Amino acid sequence: MSVADKIASLKASLPSGVTLVAVSKTYPPSAIMEAYEAGQRVFGENRPQELAAKQAELPGDIEWHLIGGLQTNKVKLVAPFVSMIHSAESARLLRFIDREARRNDRVIDVLLEVRIAREESKHGWDEGELERYLRSGEHRSLEGVRFRGLMGVATNTDEKEIVRAEFTRLRDLFVRWKGEFFDERFDTLSMGMSADYPLAVECGSTMVRIGSAIFGARRY
Ligand SMILES: *Cc1c(COP(=O)(O)O)cnc(C)c1O
Repeated sequence: MSVADKIASLKASLPSGVTLVAVSKTYPPSAIMEAYEAGQRVFGENRPQELAAKQAELPGDIEWHLIGGLQTNKVKLVAPFVSMIHSAESARLLRFIDREARRNDRVIDVLLEVRIAREESKHGWDEGELERYLRSGEHRSLEGVRFRGLMGVATNTDEKEIVRAEFTRLRDLFVRWKGEFFDERFDTLSMGMSADYPLAVECGSTMVRIGSAIFGARRY
């Protein structure tokens, strides 16, 4: 199947209300253009430099999402144009995003990344730590940040019940924190990748991040 066919069949299989982020990290601009010509407009990258380089050479109506770990000193590379940052994982990083957004006269859409996988992952807030942060109210002072929801990466395993439990936990946190700390604008639950997106959608995902199932295996 071509990239265009894969985009079409994925879009047909996703319920309305679930946004497809085509994860184009490591793939060349020509592959992104194939997806673009098939109508895809939302793309995700995990490295700020690669994201900025691709944004500079590809069509201006692409919505670029940053989905990977972000160092504070790299925020300024993406702040002028990024549509959404999925990987906000500390109070310090949020302060940098806020500062760079305001410098660019922007308000940047942000997801809070929660560590849900059992495996020792370096990314995301611990859920207790994030709850304490939200309870402190510090996030309310960040005028350059629009909190849109949560993001998580499940354990990489064939055991579906483990993955289901992790996605369900994230969905429950999303519903609870939305009620407690946010309002209806907190509307995005980013979970599900090539290997596990059908399960993520079953568990309430509103945004799936899919790379290899569209573009083929990555060569690093
Ligand atoms: C690479 C990546 C994806 C996409 O992974 P695939 O298995 O290629 O679909 C999704 N989310 C994050 C955070 C990633 O880094």
